[in-house]
Amino acid sequence: MATKTPALPSICCYCGVGCGVLVEPLKNGDVAVVGNPDYPVNRGALCSKGLNLQYTVNDRSDRLLYPQMRYSRHRPLQRVGWDEALARTAAVFKTFIEQYGPDSVAFYASGQCLTEEYYVLNKLMKGFIGSNNLDTNSRLCMSSAVVGYKMALGEDSVPVCYDDIELADCLLVAGANPAWCHPILWRRVEAHKAANPSTKIIVIDPRATDSTAIADVHLQLIPGTDVVLNQALARALIENGDVDLTFIEQHAEGFEAYKAIVFERSLAESAALCGVAEADIRLAAGYLGGARAFLSMWTMGLNQSAVGVDKNLSLLNLHLITGQIGRPGAGPLSLTGQPNAMGGREVGGLSNLLPAHRNLANPAHRAEVQQFWGSGPLADTPGYTATEMFEALEDGRLKAIWILCTNPLTSLPNARQAEAALAKAKFVVVQEVSTQPETLAYADVILPAAAWAEKEGTMTNSERRISHLVKAVDAPGEALPDAEIICRFARALGFPGFDFPNAEAIYREHARLTAGTTLDISGLTYDILKTRGSVQWPYRAGQAAPDTARLFTDQQFYTPSRRAVIHPVAAAFRSEAPDDDFPFILTTGRIRDQWHTMTKTGRVSKLNQHIPQAFLELHPQDAQTLGVAEDDLVTVTSRRGDVRVAARLSAGIRPGVVLLPMHWGKRLGSDLNRANNVTSGALDPVSKEPDFKFCAVQVAKYRKP
Ligand code: SF4
Repeated sequence: MATKTPALPSICCYCGVGCGVLVEPLKNGDVAVVGNPDYPVNRGALCSKGLNLQYTVNDRSDRLLYPQMRYSRHRPLQRVGWDEALARTAAVFKTFIEQYGPDSVAFYASGQCLTEEYYVLNKLMKGFIGSNNLDTNSRLCMSSAVVGYKMALGEDSVPVCYDDIELADCLLVAGANPAWCHPILWRRVEAHKAANPSTKIIVIDPRATDSTAIADVHLQLIPGTDVVLNQALARALIENGDVDLTFIEQHAEGFEAYKAIVFERSLAESAALCGVAEADIRLAAGYLGGARAFLSMWTMGLNQSAVGVDKNLSLLNLHLITGQIGRPGAGPLSLTGQPNAMGGREVGGLSNLLPAHRNLANPAHRAEVQQFWGSGPLADTPGYTATEMFEALEDGRLKAIWILCTNPLTSLPNARQAEAALAKAKFVVVQEVSTQPETLAYADVILPAAAWAEKEGTMTNSERRISHLVKAVDAPGEALPDAEIICRFARALGFPGFDFPNAEAIYREHARLTAGTTLDISGLTYDILKTRGSVQWPYRAGQAAPDTARLFTDQQFYTPSRRAVIHPVAAAFRSEAPDDDFPFILTTGRIRDQWHTMTKTGRVSKLNQHIPQAFLELHPQDAQTLGVAEDDLVTVTSRRGDVRVAARLSAGIRPGVVLLPMHWGKRLGSDLNRANNVTSGALDPVSKEPDFKFCAVQVAKYRKP
């Protein structure tokens, strides 16, 4: 039953599209949620996940309600008070830091954290504990794009906005299925194409998907050959005279070296390596070259790779050689998987970053942050990245880990190894909303956290749009907002600078620290956000119309030379190659109605109806060779583990390639649904992003022993 409380503007907590919603608190403590018709991203529309957002709050049946703790792994967890839980955790952290140094402890957080939460985590670990051991699951999702932007444009800066979709006359979608994973954005693409049929859509994906359904050309490449394909597109563009030599001469560097690389291989050779028709490469290059404005969109197919940075750079190169950047409808738009992966990058919430795009390796930047925080010196070497944390737990370098707002035993590659690492950890803190994550079984301390709509803060979506999230209802039991938990812990450790009265005070400090940087939001307050609804950074103080739809409109980039850099990336192969024993290429993916590890969407019966169980997608030819029929149980085995799921036959996947959805984990019973039993621990050498999209497996029809 609705009260007269007005509906409150907020943001969907699922994907990085960042749709606006209205949250209405109800008399019984529940909320009702609808799309916000005034929000520019979605104009009231929501996808299936957003339409069921209210259940993340209203279903409290599995909520963690009070802190729990145990003094030994052999003893059961017991209910304790907040003071006792945090005092013991602080004592354990202090002991490890004193005995083994600050790098013996770590925070592993999430792109679902609000910006204010990221900020205090970063300040505590980097400023006061004195280690850079703060990493997040954004490492698994966006870190290759971050490095690509920094190398090509000088900083991690998405130059475009969603309104460029409607202004582009060619869209290049690479390694992504936005029809399922970023649905509201894709609806805008579909509407644009329907209204302007001459708009060309190129999709690069090893599988036919709902996104390829409206493509003018689908380049169904062999997984891992993205760089070769992008170089072939570049070669065709150069041969056709469709490069912008004026832009290259005035605003870019590295073209000649790059040109030499792309001309090392003929189009026919590239086509054969990629497994696509040369004519289709020429067709796609013709669309790109003939475009008044082309926009590219990409996600995990490029990022989650042992050559993820190279893939990103090779795509960015297409924009730089054509001058398709810094003007309406043109530029690269990396789509974030998580709602606030961008906000985390803004505060420096990865183990190799500092706040506001400052450089960890730069002593002046470290000193600037140290002075602002009034902290000790900041460590000058990067901390452990996501997978490195678990390796360090396994070999004993890392003693204590604090995991919040993420479910690594489903989402990390080679998950059984991650499980073994967590079992060896000396001390594990899990800060969570619900009883769903598998990590709880390893926790020495469990801290109950407030959920979406139970706490206030800000998030930034994939187009640099910052929005305010409202607290609509109280959290159940003794659950607290994540930022408050971290600040209480910092105070228990005896550190100053964590006496924030509320989220807004944290935000104000964060905004002040951005002053003078490329993402300066020193002019942006909660009041402005609440009045305007949202703002794209930078938003500098003292400017008349300070929010920014597009970057680089003056073609001045953030590199020291102010020129963009065309990197001559070679087509390296660093993945686990198929062989006689493991002949199939496994890739992982997402399904329409589930999000990440299903701790939220998996509890909504409507969302479970779309695809109710894990599966292996394989080509009918391969199924016939293996003697497998639709719905037969199959075993998928790699050098690391196995999975047993039902077969789904699809002519839309390349023969020799199989796909597992990444959502299912162990908590639903056996761990045999978990794709990450088999995935590889290979990482991109620069971004340290895992190779979720490529490993070698064998597939066999399951026969009961
Ligand atoms: Fe939420 Fe993303 Fe769906 Fe929008 S598209 S409603 S942000 S899940």
